[in-house]
Amino acid sequence: MTKKYGILAFPAAHSLSPVMFNAAFKALNIDAQYGIFEVAPENLSDFMKDVLSENIHGLSVSLPHKEMIMKLIERISPDSQKIGAVNTVVNKGTYFEGHNTDFIGSNQALIESIGPLKDKKAVVIGAGGAARAIIYGLLKENAEVLIVNRSPEKGQKMVEEFDSLFGAKISAISHEEALKTFPTGDILIQATSIWTLKKELTEEEILHFCPAEWIANFDTVMDIIYRPLMTPLLTTAKKLGKKIITGEKMLLYQAAEQFKIWTGEKAPLQVMREALDGNLL
Ligand code: NAP
Repeated sequence: MTKKYGILAFPAAHSLSPVMFNAAFKALNIDAQYGIFEVAPENLSDFMKDVLSENIHGLSVSLPHKEMIMKLIERISPDSQKIGAVNTVVNKGTYFEGHNTDFIGSNQALIESIGPLKDKKAVVIGAGGAARAIIYGLLKENAEVLIVNRSPEKGQKMVEEFDSLFGAKISAISHEEALKTFPTGDILIQATSIWTLKKELTEEEILHFCPAEWIANFDTVMDIIYRPLMTPLLTTAKKLGKKIITGEKMLLYQAAEQFKIWTGEKAPLQVMREALDGNLL
């Protein structure tokens, strides 16, 4: 019987996961189909009951369900517990298992470009769910992190939580403060939704969010947004001669890890990369 998998999100129609996973299943001759499950938050609990009865083998979980779904999962990996979010669900027949592969995806994207992260200093713009997984991954590899966020209290809260887990390698300031001091480091990571929420930013807004003089302080710049692939930040970084890491890398590597969790097989990375590339702007 064809095994069913899918992306659980709201909205979900824009997801690139189906093209990646269906290409991967086909390449390895696995009888499986990956679809889209667009489920509103108020229907999440009923949907998860259907997942068990309809024999849906696995789910990729995206906004806005990554935290809420934890209440409906019986076994949660230690990494997911510490991050406070699950992005991968495995249906074990009578119960669910939850994992988080986002931090593995971001670490892999960074390490493939700049090597080991130990003692590297990263400045992360954002303190939402994606930033949290990225920061967890950086700290796990012994990097140092400065969080820069529009709402400083959110960054500060993350510092307090992660400080007790990893020791004093993390601090936070407001975005406003960063625009005055231009904090420096090895890597600048853009992990907010700024480019997706408001696609048509004016030149002035872009420069205000991350001025070129600030970008100039880093060797490497990563943006986790992949629509568009060349974000305004990466375009400026490239002009300044910086090493850039585009957002689809994190997406690809977190998906490859999900594939391994579900099937026990190594993901066909090249096939998934080509399927993804063919659907990016
Ligand atoms: P989230 O939890 O809603 O957090 C959004 C973050 O963006 C917050 O830190 C928020 O700041 C900040 N923000 C939003 N608009 C801003 C603005 N105009 N100026 C400054 N900061 C702003 O979202 P998320 O789950 O972290 O996801 C963030 C983005 O990453 C999404 O676009 C998502 O698609 C993308 N993503 C990509 C990957 C990948 O694999 N490449 C994986 C996961 C997510 P406040 O705290 O001040 O509100």
